Amino acid sequence: MNGNVVVITGASGGIGAELARRVGNAGGRPVLAARRAEALRAVAADSGPDALVVVADVTDRAQVERILTEALARFGQVDAWVNNAGRGITRPVSQLTDADVDEMIGVNLKSALYGMQTVLPHFKQRRRGHIRNVSSMLGRVPFAPQRSAYSAAKHALNALTANLRMELRDEFPDLHVTTVSPPVVATEFGVHALGGGMDSRAFPGAQPVADVAQVIVDVIEHPRADVYTREGAREMVVRYFAAEDMAEAERQFGGPPPRT
Ligand code: NDP
Repeated sequence: MNGNVVVITGASGGIGAELARRVGNAGGRPVLAARRAEALRAVAADSGPDALVVVADVTDRAQVERILTEALARFGQVDAWVNNAGRGITRPVSQLTDADVDEMIGVNLKSALYGMQTVLPHFKQRRRGHIRNVSSMLGRVPFAPQRSAYSAAKHALNALTANLRMELRDEFPDLHVTTVSPPVVATEFGVHALGGGMDSRAFPGAQPVADVAQVIVDVIEHPRADVYTREGAREMVVRYFAAEDMAEAERQFGGPPPRT
């Protein structure tokens, strides 16, 4: 990691915390952002000698801007910015409220938009940098009806990520923008979901958090546009969109219909 300064939102637990530890212990300088100060400090204590904690709610643009300000004040530069903070929902489309949709868009989409827009001027000035947006398999294939508005927000995040990449491609070839799509990962994601629900750690076949964090470290070191964290995931996406009968593909791959 060669002293790279890596901003990680949602670093107080789960994927972001593991990523911070890996970056910090591989010679990088992680900037850990989230709302829970104590949890952040505990993760930072295991994330190398240069870990910086910034308590911030990423649904508030000014607080996201403060993450950059504090990172620059300490390190003078940022090399990579990982928009990882996010939250699920357990509610089918038929029962979604306006507040549910606003919450999902705020924490999963606008948070990443704020991150991208905040760090871009710095990266453009340096003519290089890495933006990594942690999306989800559900941002590609909406196979979990109870995650409804979460899937929708992650689909939208994928579009903004691809569009930013295209916007920068010709003028800033060393500014890399990546979508990362994990499957179910063994974190507290499920219990933190709006409306509660199953603990992701109890989900059969949930991917270990260490595997996901390692893929993100790899993609910071070796930029690619679009990565899945589990083998076979890309093929599943391709099969779904190539299916003549999408309803049949949903029956094969998707979960049971939600109870209403
Ligand atoms: P966790 O619930 O374990 O962690 C979520 C992190 O996001 C926490 O650090 C939390 O910190 C932070 N966060 C949530 N809301 C805010 C906010 N408003 N402001 C700042 N930080 C916030 O989940 P994961 O680690 O699993 O999730 C990380 C990312 O991975 C998310 O984007 C998620 O959508 C994605 N993902 C997860 C999957 C899974 O099955 N686990 C599958 C696919 C994708 P705090 O509460 O301290 O603010």
